[in-house]
Amino acid sequence: MLTPEQIETKLDRILLKVQKPGRYVGGELNSVVKDWDSADVRVALVFPDIYDIGVSNVGLKILYDQVNQRGDALAERAYAPWTDMEALMRAEGIPLYALESKRPLSGFDLVGFSLPYETLYTNALNLLDLAGIPLRAGERGAEHPIVIAGGHSTINPEPMHAFMDAFVIGEGEEVIHDIINVLKLRNTQYAVRDDLLLALAKIPGVYVPRFYQPHYMDDGTIARVETLAEGIANPVVKRIVAKLPPPPTKFIVPNIEVVHNRASVEITRGCTRGCRYCHAGMITRPVRERRVDEIVAAAREAVRSTGFEELALLSLSSSDYTHIEELVAAIGEEFKDEKLTVSLPSLRIESVSIDLVDKLRGRRGSGFTLAPEAATERMRRIINKFISDEDIINTTREIYRRGWTNIKLYFMIGHPSETLEDVQAIADLCKRVIAEGRKVAGMKVKLHAGVSTFVPKPQTPFQWVSCDTRENILAKQALLKRELRDRNIKLSWTKPEDTLLESFLSRGDRRLAEVIFTAWKNGAKFDAWEEHRRFETWMSAFAEHGLDPAFYTHRPRRADEIFAWDHITAAVRKKYLFQDFRRSLEGHIRVDCRLNCYACGILPTFADLRRDNPGEGWKCPDVKSPRKADVSDRGQPLAIR
Ligand code: SF4
Repeated sequence: MLTPEQIETKLDRILLKVQKPGRYVGGELNSVVKDWDSADVRVALVFPDIYDIGVSNVGLKILYDQVNQRGDALAERAYAPWTDMEALMRAEGIPLYALESKRPLSGFDLVGFSLPYETLYTNALNLLDLAGIPLRAGERGAEHPIVIAGGHSTINPEPMHAFMDAFVIGEGEEVIHDIINVLKLRNTQYAVRDDLLLALAKIPGVYVPRFYQPHYMDDGTIARVETLAEGIANPVVKRIVAKLPPPPTKFIVPNIEVVHNRASVEITRGCTRGCRYCHAGMITRPVRERRVDEIVAAAREAVRSTGFEELALLSLSSSDYTHIEELVAAIGEEFKDEKLTVSLPSLRIESVSIDLVDKLRGRRGSGFTLAPEAATERMRRIINKFISDEDIINTTREIYRRGWTNIKLYFMIGHPSETLEDVQAIADLCKRVIAEGRKVAGMKVKLHAGVSTFVPKPQTPFQWVSCDTRENILAKQALLKRELRDRNIKLSWTKPEDTLLESFLSRGDRRLAEVIFTAWKNGAKFDAWEEHRRFETWMSAFAEHGLDPAFYTHRPRRADEIFAWDHITAAVRKKYLFQDFRRSLEGHIRVDCRLNCYACGILPTFADLRRDNPGEGWKCPDVKSPRKADVSDRGQPLAIR
């Protein structure tokens, strides 16, 4: 294994030959370099896309902070080298290394991948290969790191099961400590790798695929998933934290321009709106909020320790944060004498949102983004995002009137049962918005319609529906391109191939692992990047393994089908999801569940956590019943109120 000094010597020979050498040198403000020999457990956190994107990933920032707070462990970082750097690294025999110590990843105890989206899968394989770590979990021995993945896409871990020793399901802040505590015993109690993996599998929220065996029916669907070891969970329930821990504030300050050169503070986690297409909204329940004073103090500390001039207040739905007005006022006051741009993503379409952003006047970017997602009442009922056209028109008109010249509206095509009339309505609505804008602000107003295509995701009410076909997607996009020819309306869309790739990767079973491996071997990587799109490579990989991509993308699911991911749960019951799907077909909406708890399954699963954390921070109702253990002592049923 190369030493850090040997790697640095080799880097000196190549860094001036690549684009943006600053991606590969580390040494940024707030990076943490700990003494290698003093740490019992060394963790390499990997974001499998380029530095410019990965360095801003919030999940990895949290884990970096959590691990480096421990006296007995260290965390370092690695990202995907761009193709120029990768070619030179391979030519020079430089393995993937961590930026802090320049040590090869193969020398760490734990390599943790963040996989927020599926198009990173081939990059994860590529990075394992570049690191000299066997790609397949079954080929790793005692001398290799444990390779773990977490992030939203791993709520269906099966397509990547062959390459990861384990997956973290759900939130990482607490489980990372449980994992490190087990890894501390790897040279004593768990010297045999299988014993170590079994100990990991017994940690709540950790899924170790080798201890689960799916059985298939003749039609290729899942018959059942067998558990191969005693004492492990089936289903594996996601981990959550009862209370959001203090947010990280010592952000890495990159030495080069990156996508998000900013500090961020997560103000809430989870969402109670229940939009049926929304993967994040379904799998991150329950809603937990931070206090205003905690957010302001964290923002102050983050800006002080980084010098960033931009602050993002993160959540899935900013307007739903209970104290949003108080927070905006407090942030405005705190930074009143400073040049700081504050962004509030995911605002609801209502005048209050404009007031909020207006209060940050002078701190705003040039555009205003809203997400109606659909343009007919029928479709909005189906997806459970009910906003009237009048609200959209009134809100956008007011935004233009108050001086914003650019509005971005997000829509999705391909929702269940969508027709060309529903798509035509998107074009009509955009035309109305800009016509109304011109009345109050003149011809300078602009509109950007961002139209992506819906992918039915696991663990959502739409997991039973099929993805729109390529032909349908193209016909709908052609309609929009034809209708939206106004020079002040910009239209952007997602290529159907990208939608289908995301669809089969997110809904795949274990057999997809060989497709992923073959696609990577034949050159697929950076799948989210237009210049690297290789859809034909993927189709060839399916053919090589005798699989049909349509089985995963376009097959309507039986009501009673066992999904490849059913032995993993985000704690929202499948029965609830199916009822919600049925309600969707009948055009029934569900209101915000803070107003009316629908008993989705979160509370019974996390009753003890909720009971120990009563009050406002958590937006599900309080649990007043006795603990399960107390109940079983007295032989009484558990009641959730
Ligand atoms: S338990 Fe009730 S309030 Fe909590 S997330 Fe589920 S439906 Fe919403």
